[in-house]
Order: sequence, then structure tokens, then C-alpha cells
Amino acid sequence: MSSTNGGASATDVDVLIVGAGITGIYQLHRAREEGFSALLLEAGDGVGGCWFWNRYPGCRFDSESYTYGYLFSEELFDEWEWSEHFAGQPETERYLNHVVDKFDLRRDMHFGVRVTGALYDEANGTWVVTTDDDNETRCRFLIAATGVLSVPYTPDIEGRESFRGVQHHTGLWPEEPVDFRGKRVAIVGTSSSGVQVLPTILPDVASVTVYQRTANWCTPLNNRPITDEEQAELRAGFEQLRETLNTSRSGFAHPVNAKNAFDDSPEARQAFYTELWNSPGFMKLTYNYQDLLFNEQANREWCDFIAGKIRELVHDPATAEKLIPTDHGFGGKRPPFVIGYFEAFNDPKVSLVDLRETPMVRVTETGIETQGESGEELREFDIIVWATGFDFGTGALNRMGIIGRDGRALTEHWADGPTTFLGLQTRGFPNLFFPGGPHAAAGNNPRYNGDLVDIVTDTLVYATEHGFDVIEVSADSEERWTRMVDKGAAATTFGTIGQYVGSNIPGKPRRYLLNTGGRLKLFEIRADVVANDYKAYEMSKGPDRRSL
Ligand SMILES: Cc1cc2nc3c(=O)[nH]c(=O)nc-3n(C[C@H](O)[C@H](O)[C@H](O)COP(=O)(O)OP(=O)(O)OC[C@H]3O[C@@H](n4cnc5c(N)ncnc54)[C@H](O)[C@@H]3O)c2cc1C
Repeated sequence: MSSTNGGASATDVDVLIVGAGITGIYQLHRAREEGFSALLLEAGDGVGGCWFWNRYPGCRFDSESYTYGYLFSEELFDEWEWSEHFAGQPETERYLNHVVDKFDLRRDMHFGVRVTGALYDEANGTWVVTTDDDNETRCRFLIAATGVLSVPYTPDIEGRESFRGVQHHTGLWPEEPVDFRGKRVAIVGTSSSGVQVLPTILPDVASVTVYQRTANWCTPLNNRPITDEEQAELRAGFEQLRETLNTSRSGFAHPVNAKNAFDDSPEARQAFYTELWNSPGFMKLTYNYQDLLFNEQANREWCDFIAGKIRELVHDPATAEKLIPTDHGFGGKRPPFVIGYFEAFNDPKVSLVDLRETPMVRVTETGIETQGESGEELREFDIIVWATGFDFGTGALNRMGIIGRDGRALTEHWADGPTTFLGLQTRGFPNLFFPGGPHAAAGNNPRYNGDLVDIVTDTLVYATEHGFDVIEVSADSEERWTRMVDKGAAATTFGTIGQYVGSNIPGKPRRYLLNTGGRLKLFEIRADVVANDYKAYEMSKGPDRRSL
């Protein structure tokens, strides 16, 4: 199925995909499967997206490995054996390379090219995409699978460039391993990445200082190897697992809890919290009492339980208190899952600096200066690890130089934060799709982003089969979806501080960046779109076909 046609508006490809992460790879596969000519451009030198860039020590899943991998091919599921329930970064990168080779996708991928401009050619209904190697590609449909966590953020601290030691952001970690042996190390940031780095490098370093701005509700990942019996069970249960993952609210295969916290007695609740503490990864959120995020008292009790655990695990009471969050409940920020994080603070090599008590002043040639009660204090380091997060949701799209109808820039259109339909399209930018961008859902990412890729692909097929070349979301559809997201944002307690609302980036508009309706709302509205014969979109014929 090719929409590429001759004449002045001839395109180089039907579909141009940006990003070779788990979303873009699947998008390329689906586009090719449907007979579109397709090309994928990726800024990195290899496959993997976040699993290509985040090579920092300790980087691993907190989705169960076999629920994160693709489900579109049973053969692929059968032949790939994950070693652990929560695999490390190298394994995931290998997996994604395996997928690309197995489905012969590499021949349509170009690496080491960054898209720097995308101009909508209104007369022809096509996109002209420019890259940093001065090439230009004309496509009918532009699909930005550019990721929500693909633009690392490092705070603009005075003197950062003057540091003479080694410094890296976790999200831009070099391929060549960093040698931590005998080094004095600073880790700045204690969200999901920083908490993975600390225990991993601890055996090697001379000392490590952790700079914490916000304490997080960390709970154990509870990782372990996948046994042969489990592997066999996974294979035998593939159809059931696929069904569960393709329909569950969270995209995880965890059981659902229909109880409210105070349905249980105090003793039963404590026993349940212990069960949760010992459960794998995100089950502490997905299998928790169903009113966890709506009932402040329920949330507080679970937090008190975790705080008790922190006090047990961390021997120094003052350090333990600093590691207990005081400004948000569980789920208020994305909760990290850890292996030996709290225990690491019992090692005399580890110290904790609370940046709320002693703010960072500057980076010097030799270390980091903070403002203490009795003046500025310098700690010297050989290595600084910036685990300071990402410009979530809109970061990559806003840096792609996207210009839509009437010369309007996406950055201008989204000056107050994103407006979308299904988290996939925005009005004024026809034929542009962004699966896995803003207004996508929290949860097991590949499942939700896979839904989005399927929706995009089915929409392209529908349009092409009906002779339409231009797909634009109607003003009403966009308005209704965005209103649903914003309304949900006012009611939720999930992710209300930090990256999901943009508050980690100075100057970024404070706007909720996830689909607050979740996956089930996506299914509902999508079904409505199909039932109403795609009236949510304004579809039209391109100029070449208008005269046919
Ligand atoms: C350390 C870490 C751990 C994570 N763990 C989990 C987990 O366990 N479970 C989970 O569900 N989610 C996890 N996530 C979230 C993660 O973002 C998604 O799981 C997944 O990577 C999203 O895939 P993606 O393909 O949409 O985006 P990405 O993997 O981010 O890929 C986007 C790609 O687009 C490329 N790109 C962006 N802009 C341009 C441009 N202008 N030109 C060319 N290329 C461009 C980037 O280089 C990147 O390679 C994690 C994220 C991080 C950072």
C-alpha cells in the first residue's frame, strides 16, 4: 500500500519515523507490514532508544522483562529468554537489536542523524524533514517516536563546564565503561536512575556523596533470575499473558485489587503491606488498595509503613529521616524500585547531602560547593554522575523544529503545554503523529505505546484505502481529549510533582503530561472513532489526487 505518487509533490517515502526505541521499531515493522514505504531516522548510533542511551551502572527494567518485550510474534517470544525478571540495560539493548535483525528492519534505518527541522508543505500535504547531515526527506506521514524520556536535563549550575574530572548524565552515558575504582564520586539526583547507580558502583569507589533534592518513596524491586520452570510456564502461557497485557489498565500482568484500604482490619493491612513490600516492582502501585491514590489516609498509612522500613534499614537515624519523603505521598512522584539502595547508606564510604538544607552553589574545577550554615563547603570529586532526569513528554518534539500549517511552530502551539487528540496528533500539524509522546499513559510503556502505534497504522491504512492523503484531527476532538486530560489532572494525586507536570525544568509550563484517563479511556475513545467512521479527523485528498 503506497501513498507515494508522482508529480511535483512526489515523496521519498510514505512514512518517515523518527526514533529507534521500542516504539519506533514497532512502528517501522507495522508500516512495512501494511505495505507503506518507510524510513526510520535515529540520532543515536544504534538501536534501543532509552536502552541505547542509558548505559549507566545499574540501569535496568522495573517492568517485568517478558511483559516489556514485544508480543506481536509468538516465535520471537519463544526464542528470546530473559535472564532475570527485571533485566539490565545490556540485555534489553541486545533484545531490541535481535528484533531489528529478525524482522530485517535495519535496512530502513539510518543512525547518527538528528532531525532538526520538519516543515509541513501545505500545498502538497507532505512533510519536508531536514537532518543535521544537511539531508532532506519528503514524506507523506511523519511519525515522531521520539520518546518521553529522551532529552536529558542537567541543571544549569554555575561552573559545571569547569570541572576537570569526569562527568556524565545517566541518560547520555558513554559506551566505554567508566572506571569507578578508587574514585571519589558524586551522584546528583535520587530518582529512578540515581538510586540504581549508588549500590552498583559502591563496591568499587573510594567514596560516594549523594546529593538529594527530593527524597523518593523507594521500595524493593525484588528481582531474581527466571528459572527454567518459569521460562517453560511463560511459553506455555503466552496467549493468556498476551491477552492480559493487551487489555490490562496498567499494561502489567499484575493482579488487580478490588479492596479499599479500610475494608481490611489494621492487622490485615500491615500483613498486606509486608506482602507488597516483598512483591515485584510496580505491584506496590498496581496491586495496592484501589483507593491508594484517592484516599489520603490510605496513602499515608502505606507511606508510614515504608518509612518504618527505611528506619529499620538505615542505621543512622538522621540519615534515615532525610531519606523519608515529606512533601508527597506514594505515587505523587514516579516511585523508584531499588536493589540495596537504603542499605548502601550504612557503608562508611557513603554520605548524603540534603540540597534543601544545603543548596548547591557551584561546580568548581575539583568538586561541588554547597551553602552550609557556616558558609560555602567544597567536596572534591573525580567523577560527577548527573542523575537529574529528563525534559519529559514534550522535550524531544519541541526540539525537532516542527512547523505546521501557516508557518506555526509546534513550540508556539504548545507554549502553554501540549494539546492533543489521543496523545497522538495536534491540530494544525496534519499527517504528524507522535506515539509515546505527551498525553500517553503511565504504566508498562511498550504496551500503551504499542496500542498507539496500532492506532496510527490503522488510521493511515484507513485514510489510504479511502483515497485520503491528509489526516488532521478536528478541533472538537482535540479539545475534548485535552479537556479530559486536564480535568483528570485536577483530580489525581499521581505524578503531581516532578517530571509529569514539568516542574523539574525551570520555565516549563506546568501542565499534566500524561493521559489521566489511562489506557481504558484510550480504548474507549478509539472504539468511538472507528464506530463513527473516523469523523474525529478531517481527511482530505492531496493536491495530486484532487485533479484525478
Ligand atoms: C533509565 C530508564 C528506564 C526505564 N525503564 C522503564 C521500564 O522498566 N518500564 C517502562 O515501561 N518504561 C521504562 N522507561 C520509560 C522508557 O522511556 C520507555 O519504556 C521506552 O523507552 C519508550 O520508548 P520510545 O521508543 O517511545 O522512546 P525512546 O526509547 O526514548 O526512544 C526515542 C528515540 O528517539 C530518538 N530521537 C529523539 N529526537 C530525535 C531527533 N530529533 N532526531 C533523531 N532521533 C531522535 C532518541 O535518540 C531515542 O533513541 C525507562 C526510561 C528510562 C530513561
